[in-house]
Formats: sequence, C-alpha cells, structure tokens
Amino acid sequence: MNAASTPLLRVEALEKRFETRGGLFSEARSVRAVDDVSFTVNAGETLGLVGESGCGKTTVGRLVLRLIEPSAGKVEFDGVDLRALDAAQMRAMRRDLQIIFQDPLGALNPRMSVGELIMEPLVIHGVGDAVEQQRRLAELLSLVGLASYHAGRFPHEFSGGQRQRICIARALALNPRFIVCDEAASALDVSIQAQILNLLQDLKKELGLTYLFISHDLGVIRHISDRVMVMYLGKVVETGSKKAIFDAPAHPYTVALLRSAPSRNRGKTRYSAIKGDLPSPSNPPSGCRFHTRCPMAQEICRKEQPPLAAMNDGTHLAACHFAGTMGA
Ligand code: SF4
Repeated sequence: MNAASTPLLRVEALEKRFETRGGLFSEARSVRAVDDVSFTVNAGETLGLVGESGCGKTTVGRLVLRLIEPSAGKVEFDGVDLRALDAAQMRAMRRDLQIIFQDPLGALNPRMSVGELIMEPLVIHGVGDAVEQQRRLAELLSLVGLASYHAGRFPHEFSGGQRQRICIARALALNPRFIVCDEAASALDVSIQAQILNLLQDLKKELGLTYLFISHDLGVIRHISDRVMVMYLGKVVETGSKKAIFDAPAHPYTVALLRSAPSRNRGKTRYSAIKGDLPSPSNPPSGCRFHTRCPMAQEICRKEQPPLAAMNDGTHLAACHFAGTMGA
C-alpha cells in the first residue's frame, strides 16, 4: 500500500434517519439507513466500501459530500467541519469534493455537447475565461482517453465506457482532491469495467487523488482498494487493509460475502451463500443485526450489539462477539 497516512476525510458517528409512513393510518417510522458510522480516508488512498444492496453504502457516499444532510455526526475534510459550512462555503468546498455515479447516461444532460458538459463546472464556478476553459477541456479529454473532436458530440453517440470517461472528465474539471466513486464501473461490461478501473487508478497516481470507492462487487473492491470497509444494515461490521479483509476476514458476514457469488435480481444484489433476506432497516434485529442470518449466532448475539473492536495491530476492526474465531 502506497497510501500516505494523513487523514483527509474523517467521519465520526455519522447517522441518517429517514421518516417513512406505510399507509394513511399507519404511524411514521424512523429508518436508520446509516447508524453510527465512523471512518477515515487517508490522503492518496482508496477506501473500498462494500455490502449488499440496502446496506447504506450509497447513503454514506452522499452524506460525506453533503448531497444529503446527515441526521447526526461529523464529517471533516482536511480539518474543516463540512456540517458547519453555510451554502456559499459548501459550494466553494465542492471544488475539492466530487462524485462519479453508476449510470453515466442518467448523469449527463442529453441536450448538452460533451464539451459543454465537461466545461459546465468551470463555468458555474467562474474558473478561467473562454480560452482557458477550452484549453482545460482539451486537457481533460486527453486525460480520460477521449479525442478533441469528441467535444462536439452528444452523450447518446457514445458507448457506456466512453460516457463514463466523460463523467470522469467532468468530475476532474475543478481539480478535486477527493472523489466518491459510487458503483462507477458496475453498469459496464467486464472488459470495459477493467479499463475504467485502470483509468481511475492511473488518474489517482497522476493527480494525487483520494477515493471512497463504493461497490457491491468484491472483485472490483479487491482490484482498486488499499483498505476495505464492510457494511451491513446501516452499520460498519468490519474494516481493515485489503490483505486483512481478503486473507483473514474476522466477521462472519465478510466471510459469507467472500464465499458467495453476487447475482443481480430486479436491480438488487444478492449473495447466494448468505441465507435469508436482508432484514428491513426500519425494524432491524436486536443485538447483532446479522444474527438472523449468521451461522455462528449464539444467545448473546440476539441480546447484545457487538462493538466495532480492534484486533491484532489495531488497524483491523470487526463488530462480532466471536470475531476471528470462525476461520475463513
Ligand atoms: Fe454472528 Fe454473533 Fe458475530 Fe453477530 S455477533 S456476526 S450473530 S457470531
């Protein structure tokens, strides 16, 4: 791992509650989509965030960028408390903080040319004059492997992989330092997926970027991450170096994820070796949230929520009463 050890992003006790109502006469319920999540991302590293659909990983990505407002907790970027910023200050901060979404077609306005799309952040933030913006456009197209003549074309004229390159160029326009990649390669064919992941890795090295890389796909997470964080039903259940997570997983959920093959069903990711459905976040199981599906569950698991506790050298943490005893 080449990552430096300076935390660029520090997240403490992050929480997001959504109010839901089942019907006209039913009571409102509070769903904790993200519950007491804390982590850091060091400058220059990629933290991979993995879990099944509905585990809260996408919500975490949006919360750290304040695309949605946290219900509680702290998000600090380079020492600045993002929740303390007003709208104008947050807008200025957005130059450093970008996101790349899963669906490039949905993220691009079909009526705008590629040149307009990539230059739009420069125009919005008033960066440079028209000549400088054109120069930056040419630079960005080249950085992501597109040609200058692509600038005059429209999103529908491109393949999925090329469209994701356009989104990456747009995300890079303002020279960000931190990017949330939210399933950024998941909608693409496997061969194209590898090209986009390699491009993101090259850009990270060349531009000194830091990523929070969100994916349901452990193969992708293994390919791109320095450290890995595993979420289940709104909570972090394990975090550690890529080697620790893949070679010596300590939490039964991580072990189950590693043993199972993901499949897509009606837009949801299912892991075949994990028995049962993901419980509803509006009514999570008592004690350890994984106990309804865990082959190791004991009486204590139904009653007491296990803390996220450090193991070994302190960089590998797991939230399980019997962490590390089940063998991988
Ligand atoms: Fe399984 Fe119990 Fe560990 Fe939860 S605390 S993961 S139920 S063994």
